[in-house]
Amino acid sequence: MRIALIAHDEKKDDLVAFAGSHRDFLKDCDLVATGTTGGRIADAIPELSVRRLKSGPLGGDQQIGALIAEERVDALIFFVDPLTPMPHDVDVKALMRLAIVYDIPMALNRATAEIILLGSELARQRRDNQTTAD
Ligand code: PGA
Repeated sequence: MRIALIAHDEKKDDLVAFAGSHRDFLKDCDLVATGTTGGRIADAIPELSVRRLKSGPLGGDQQIGALIAEERVDALIFFVDPLTPMPHDVDVKALMRLAIVYDIPMALNRATAEIILLGSELARQRRDNQTTAD
């Protein structure tokens, strides 16, 4: 599974905690992240290999949008800070728009991110069981 990870500054601790509590699932995924978010995850959880793009305000959100348009991302986990104005708000909006256009699961908070990983894990178990039964 190819997952894009992004967190606004006030939410980076939350995303690192989320990634840490799901490290067993995430270590089998292809992870891509905006620059600072990816650096924080790599520092805190060295067993996760994360491809880092540019920092969000310098084009990283748009790079992830481009990956979505190329159908190279299966899910977007973006912990958004709803309380701070962002200079790159238009990029964030464009990224969310592409996630909707390409109909990929998009979590904007931890509650939804948990549901996406749970659903993916259940789907993987079902596939494994099917393979064993065949
Ligand atoms: P960052 O970008 O991970 O480089 O901080 C995230 C963002 O603010 O879009």
